[in-house]
Amino acid sequence: MDRSLICIICPRGCALHVSGEGDALTVTGNACPKGGQYAVDECTHPTRTVTSIVRVANREDTMVSVKTAAPIPKEHIFDVMQKIRAAEVNAPIEAGTVILADLFGTDVIATKTIR
Ligand code: SF4
Repeated sequence: MDRSLICIICPRGCALHVSGEGDALTVTGNACPKGGQYAVDECTHPTRTVTSIVRVANREDTMVSVKTAAPIPKEHIFDVMQKIRAAEVNAPIEAGTVILADLFGTDVIATKTIR
């Protein structure tokens, strides 16, 4: 493997380089250990936190922002987005409320309170 990527963990955006194979990956360019771990994860099992919005059925023209409580494997993003698109909730909703439970090992939670 010989791969270059930009670290997205913090705004510094270090230019990372990954070389090696299997369990013996070497990361250079990272200014901190988080970037090294990010690069290894991105090359072995990339994940993302999904953010979106869900319709509030009992409030006209109202949506609530949501996100996955933890990152999910990148290959499941489309499946999660389909379930989020099909979901709807009723207000009131507190930030942190579980909107969709147990999707690929995590929940989709509200990130905003709707009174
Ligand atoms: S390597 Fe560390 S300092 Fe650099 S962008 Fe990633 S988290 Fe930020």
